[in-house]
Amino acid sequence: MADRRRPGGGPAVVWFRRDLRLHDNPAWARATRDHERVAAVYVVDPELRDAAGDHRRQAVDDAVASLDRALDGGLHRLHGDPRVEIPRFAAECGASAVSWNRDVTPYATRRDSTTATALDGVCERHETWGTLVHPPGSIETAAGSVPKVFTAFWKRWQQMTLPALAVASDTTLITPVGEQTFRADTPPVGLEAVALERLDEFLHERLDAYPNDRDLPAIVGTSRLSIDLKRGTIGPATVARRAAEFRHGDPFVRQIAWRDWFAHLLFENPGIVTAPLQATKTPRWRNDPDEIAAWKTGRTGFPIVDAGIRELLATGYMHNRVRMIVASFLVKDLLVDWQIGERYFRHLLADGDVPQNVGNWQWVAGTGPDAAPFFRVFNPTLQSKKFDPAGVYLRRWLPELADLDDTAIHEPSRLGPLALAAAGVTLGVEYPQPLVDHADARQRALAAYEQTKR
Ligand code: FAD
Repeated sequence: MADRRRPGGGPAVVWFRRDLRLHDNPAWARATRDHERVAAVYVVDPELRDAAGDHRRQAVDDAVASLDRALDGGLHRLHGDPRVEIPRFAAECGASAVSWNRDVTPYATRRDSTTATALDGVCERHETWGTLVHPPGSIETAAGSVPKVFTAFWKRWQQMTLPALAVASDTTLITPVGEQTFRADTPPVGLEAVALERLDEFLHERLDAYPNDRDLPAIVGTSRLSIDLKRGTIGPATVARRAAEFRHGDPFVRQIAWRDWFAHLLFENPGIVTAPLQATKTPRWRNDPDEIAAWKTGRTGFPIVDAGIRELLATGYMHNRVRMIVASFLVKDLLVDWQIGERYFRHLLADGDVPQNVGNWQWVAGTGPDAAPFFRVFNPTLQSKKFDPAGVYLRRWLPELADLDDTAIHEPSRLGPLALAAAGVTLGVEYPQPLVDHADARQRALAAYEQTKR
């Protein structure tokens, strides 16, 4: 059947990747607007799948299944290298175009460029941006580069008009078993609906307290939208637009702008996945294998660090404040190359996302632009006391310390053996001895940093 909107044209193929939604999805909106018939495709790419830990794999699988249900079983699921599968599928459908939303990672850029070349002579390709509020290249200094200071980026970001939401049109869906009507006015369902509810609940119930509560790991004081933003069950423009309607929305919207900033920086500097943005600031790493293993398993003897890793291992999530403390401990107290931590987090986090993870690790290590300076070393115990004063978060993830009082639980090694035994703890048995003395480790980190200046 000829394409009604583009006489003589074939259907469009929409290649879903990390934009697993039907609302506020520019690639989907464009294809359904321009084509009478559309096929929706998801390719299970072994290269990406193997790199993801169980939690992220599950999060993506759930979102793909949800998208399929939203399309009444109309999603084509392919397996293999998308650079081969997409051109093959497009040719089989007689497609006149393939649409997708772009991504900023070096892997995605290479994959898309090869796919685009393979589509030459097969059909057109339409690339849009749907994973960020403002696309890379839209916020630049007079010299034409991404601002290297976040506040400068944020200032420009705020001056930009928020993008209009991408609206889909009615079309005919080519499904794996035939054709069916797609009605664009159908409200969001499945995980898309859940994500929108999560956003609304946060905006109505937690936004006002967000500037304070966002630092408290014992409570849910944040939006918990990072997994939805990662897999694309909610559009970033939707998040920014809805939040901007609230009087106290700025501190939250600012975090969405951080997300854009790290993505813009990576797009401009693809090398930062494997190299520090400011190489001169890198100290000589120790990379002690036993200490790395203790950190990875939540056995450092620093309760806030161990609780964070155990939250990560159990749930695929870690609270932002705790991510900062855990990352700082690895890089500064243990003098371990931030890339080791970055890869570990990326594998395990359900929201593990190259630009955000690399950007934040470089921020912690002091090697990124506008980063925490290396000489500012977090004291994990003080951080723990400040942000989890009653030890609620610690007790949740370290039940072996539950009977220690609210002071001792932050630093069990301060207690004598008898007091510890009264709470059922023997250091080195139920809970490890601290891996380092923080004051000494801090001095060692500062000395290593001084060396970088010579
Ligand atoms: P909220 O506080 O509700 O923030 C809303 C959204 O803003 C988040 O969902 C996220 O998309 C964005 N955001 C918030 N803080 C940051 C930040 N510091 N940098 C960039 N974007 C931010 N976030 C990821 O999405 N993926 C990662 O792989 C990731 N790795 C991190 C590694 C380290 C070492 C650190 C310190 C932070 C990392 N973050 C990462 C940022 C942050 O921890 C999470 O985005 C946040 O904890 C998610 O919870 P939330 O959605 O409730 O956040």
